[in-house]
Amino acid sequence: MSTTNDIIVQGEKINFCPGPCNSIEPEPPKKQFGKETWYSFKPHSGGRYQNIQYPMSDGGNLILENVRICRSCCYRHIEFEEEELYEYLHKDSEIIIKKLKKTGHLDSKNTLM
Ligand SMILES: [Zn+2]
Repeated sequence: MSTTNDIIVQGEKINFCPGPCNSIEPEPPKKQFGKETWYSFKPHSGGRYQNIQYPMSDGGNLILENVRICRSCCYRHIEFEEEELYEYLHKDSEIIIKKLKKTGHLDSKNTLM
């Protein structure tokens, strides 16, 4: 389900939350509880989400691939999707694009850098 307007962002090089929150701080160090390792961003077990999609107002999707994302952005995304609040997701996609441009991960043409 991809259109020509999709923007695909590979998350491996992004060490901060690529969601709509305003933090660009790197993920805090993982913690150890007995045998369990707990990571600050989700998935808390470590690893990465294959992709998280934000529909954009032009009909395309902002697709974050292989990302770790903070808890609040994760639940915000799930909630907006469940409630079908597409306008909110459109807004979030704009916020994320701005954030990725500011941090040098996207250029002015929304191309991955
Ligand atoms: Zn976040």
